[in-house]
Amino acid sequence: MSHDEVKQQPPINHAPSSNFAKEVEQEFYGDGIMKCIQCGMCTASCMVASMTERYRPRMLIQKILLGKREEVLSSELPWLCMTCRLCEERCQEDVNLSEIFHAVREIAAREGYIPQVFRNTINKVLEDGWLLNDAYTDFVEDDRSDLGLDPKLSWNNDFVKKIKKRYFEGVTKK
Ligand code: SF4
Ligand code: SF4
Repeated sequence: MSHDEVKQQPPINHAPSSNFAKEVEQEFYGDGIMKCIQCGMCTASCMVASMTERYRPRMLIQKILLGKREEVLSSELPWLCMTCRLCEERCQEDVNLSEIFHAVREIAAREGYIPQVFRNTINKVLEDGWLLNDAYTDFVEDDRSDLGLDPKLSWNNDFVKKIKKRYFEGVTKK
């Protein structure tokens, strides 16, 4: 491409399309996102990224910085971070990625964007207060009895009802 052709190209607009990064920054522990220099060390360090090409922490940070609010909130990507913090150990800019993604999940959950697989998990806990119901064996029952605890799972039904009422009523989007 000649110099004149380059000059005729329309300027690339690098301005974010929304103030989403600022919004994330204002969440609890969401600060730090502006420090990212997009070096990619986080992606190179991430075990989740090594398992699936869909998940790239650097790109997720980039999307937030670019203001892609709806795309990020409606995606399952912020929920794939397992908060191991290996990326944070290696990030030269001290970006707290796991907490930033946690902040994004907070916003997403408030707006009803919770991936179905997590809804299923939540519903399972809300059903009986026990995530791994199938793992609830005679051994656990014996252990609970030995410790003087009620071995039956229905012990926290009232608590579960309160949690449901407080956090999950009125959530409509997927
Ligand atoms: S390692 Fe840190 S600075 Fe580099 S892309 Fe990841 S978050 Fe940004
Ligand atoms: S904290 Fe999240 S993004 Fe960072 S390495 Fe662990 S899984 Fe990947």
